Amino acid sequence: MLDSAAPATSWPYKLHLRGQSFIGQTTLGAKQRYNRIQMPFPVHRKRRLRVSEPMRRLVRESHLDPAQFILPLFVCPGEGIRKPIGSMPGNFQLSIDELVKECEGAQALGIGGIILFGIPDVKDDAASGAYAEDGIVQRALRALKSAYPKLLLITDVCNCEYTSHGHCGKVIDQDVDNDSTLEWLAASSVSHARAGADIVAPSDMMDGRVAAIRAALDKNGFQKTAILAYAAKFASAFYGPFREAAESAPQFGDRRTYQMDPANGREAMHEMELDFEEGADMLMVKPAMPYLDLIRQAHDRFPVPIAAYQVSGEFSMLMAAVERGWLEYERAMIESLTSIHRAGAGIILTYFARDAARLLG
Ligand SMILES: [Zn+2]
Repeated sequence: MLDSAAPATSWPYKLHLRGQSFIGQTTLGAKQRYNRIQMPFPVHRKRRLRVSEPMRRLVRESHLDPAQFILPLFVCPGEGIRKPIGSMPGNFQLSIDELVKECEGAQALGIGGIILFGIPDVKDDAASGAYAEDGIVQRALRALKSAYPKLLLITDVCNCEYTSHGHCGKVIDQDVDNDSTLEWLAASSVSHARAGADIVAPSDMMDGRVAAIRAALDKNGFQKTAILAYAAKFASAFYGPFREAAESAPQFGDRRTYQMDPANGREAMHEMELDFEEGADMLMVKPAMPYLDLIRQAHDRFPVPIAAYQVSGEFSMLMAAVERGWLEYERAMIESLTSIHRAGAGIILTYFARDAARLLG
């Protein structure tokens, strides 16, 4: 029997050690008690809390909500165009009229917002389509803002869809020049804000771009436009299908002189710290599932919302397995999104946004 006269600051314990049981009182603190003294089977039966769906729902730690999803959409010139992207089933290049129709559904499903990627008519060395007042994204923004004033509009700010060489910035001597690229990014951000973007999301990985964009937005009266920085963006194999969607594959070399080495976690934290200090309102890790550890670290470290981009390759590989009957669509989709949310991402950019929102009701 336990000593009922023990002071209130001590607790009974039962300790199993090398086949023997010990019963006594302890005055250790709660954390120490937890670490040192276990009350194992049969006192603890973890299955008790898994017996039924109502019980599982009660103790569920992570919950998905359509409001946390951002749907990536690709807008192209023309009219009545809805061109399927082969490697990304259910995704299309949309002309502005079709994009407007598409967003009606997104808004009705309660999705948090959309992020736009533009496919311009012509590409050139100066990425002029990226920051033209009548560029494809700018025109799409105006149409969407007037059709759905309450839909949150986010724009990807980069140059790779607009340069003839497919790199994310101005190329000088076969290298992407950092500082002159900042001017393009600042100009693009201002033109997006002017056309109705609520959030601009620079994805280029140039040094100093968040500060340059913040200064340009403020100077032009867009103090309320938020910046979602692709702060830790890795040179990843998982972007393959996106390059078909956005027609943005580099024509020479690769992006490893500006995007991060997948092996570097501490460097990712430094990248995020710099973007945070430069004024990023939200920080993103991209891709998502191969970098869950960094999403968690970012969540614990920075007092701003953390976003993660479940990229095209993550989507396409799940879809390919679903098409072969190797994975169950809805469960694989929800489990993948849950893992990203559980790791610490409050915002998830995902091609599953529509179907997941539909499923979650
Ligand atoms: Zn780019």
